[in-house]
Amino acid sequence: MDTIELRAYAKINLALDVTGTRPNGYHDVKMIMQTVGLFDRLTLRPIAKNEIVLSSNLSFLPTGKDNLVYRAAAAFFEEMGEEHGVAIELEKHIPVAAGMAGGSTDAAATLIGLNEMYGTGYSLEKLQQIGVKLGADIPYCLMGKTALAEGIGEILTPLPAPPACQVLVVKPGISVSTKAVYDHLVLDENTVHPDVDGMIEAIKFKDYKGVVNRLGNVLEDVTCELHPIIKDIKSKMLELGVDGSLMSGSGPTVFGLFSDPEKARKAYYEFKTGDFGQTFLTEYVN
Ligand code: ATP
Repeated sequence: MDTIELRAYAKINLALDVTGTRPNGYHDVKMIMQTVGLFDRLTLRPIAKNEIVLSSNLSFLPTGKDNLVYRAAAAFFEEMGEEHGVAIELEKHIPVAAGMAGGSTDAAATLIGLNEMYGTGYSLEKLQQIGVKLGADIPYCLMGKTALAEGIGEILTPLPAPPACQVLVVKPGISVSTKAVYDHLVLDENTVHPDVDGMIEAIKFKDYKGVVNRLGNVLEDVTCELHPIIKDIKSKMLELGVDGSLMSGSGPTVFGLFSDPEKARKAYYEFKTGDFGQTFLTEYVN
């Protein structure tokens, strides 16, 4: 069995709505997921001892059962009904706890890699069934590209690629608790819901302005209230000529869309040399 190297891509949300709360505390969502060209690298190598040995370039990340990569590997072997040993090197580049599904995409890549390594031939649906037990974003991460995600995030409808543009990603150096954001979310008649259906139409018609005008995240105001730096990043992006910007997931990452590559490069340089946080200039991956 050979060593397997994989890329695990990050996502952003072009739209994110929360439509209800379930008795078990989960939320019903309606989100447009989009893969971007920012990725972690995973290297999987079979080892003789029946253990999952995870290592990472980030010393603060857990390498045991608290890491989604470890849990994905354990869930995969359980599904196989066989014990195996694997060493997994995780090279993180996606900002952690950022709203970019970093852990979920690593878990998805782990499932794909082990499926290849052991020649198990599990279908995408089967891998999604294994993944959803570990996290609602994992089924999407297994398929990637552009998709509508409903239910708790696991009901997926593929969409065509949105019109291409430059994507500036800025992750401020604060940590946001997803739970705290959802706890502060009040859904009532005053809630401003993003136009997710309009976003789907704009994507289908390759209408760039339509996409920009419909960027919306029902969690943005909540996280902004807790962390005003998100507003500051959005204001700075506006000054620098962004076409539209939005917080991804429950934050705190903010992304900005640019149709003009020159403006995008200048904005990237401004943020990179400023002190707003980790900064990347990337594109959609479809
Ligand atoms: P989402 O967008 O799905 O909410 P996120 O980008 O906000 O995800 P992650 O980067 O997945 O959040 O990290 C959330 C927490 O999960 C971290 O604090 C970290 O300790 C833990 N974690 C477990 N496995 C991983 C992993 N492989 N990569 C990053 N964080 C991980």
